[in-house]
Amino acid sequence: MKKYLTLKAKKWKLDTHHHEGATNVESLVCKICEKRFRLDKIVLHSRDCLEREKEKESRVTNHKKLMKLSEVVFEKKQELVVRATIKR
Ligand SMILES: [Zn+2]
Repeated sequence: MKKYLTLKAKKWKLDTHHHEGATNVESLVCKICEKRFRLDKIVLHSRDCLEREKEKESRVTNHKKLMKLSEVVFEKKQELVVRATIKR
């Protein structure tokens, strides 16, 4: 997960570097949240944005884990139902 974020940040840095050669240097579009922000806010924004993204991603991961868990619970329940049916 951390590696993935570092990769993202690297890509973003490369992109902003590319923008420096363009005429529109006053504002940039973040590649992570797609928000427009001023060039002088780049350090502050990248820190905040990466932090937010990290939180969001950990939430998604937790959600996926929960989904998987409920799936397992559901399967176990089905198994019990099937067993109970066979017994009868
Ligand atoms: Zn951003």
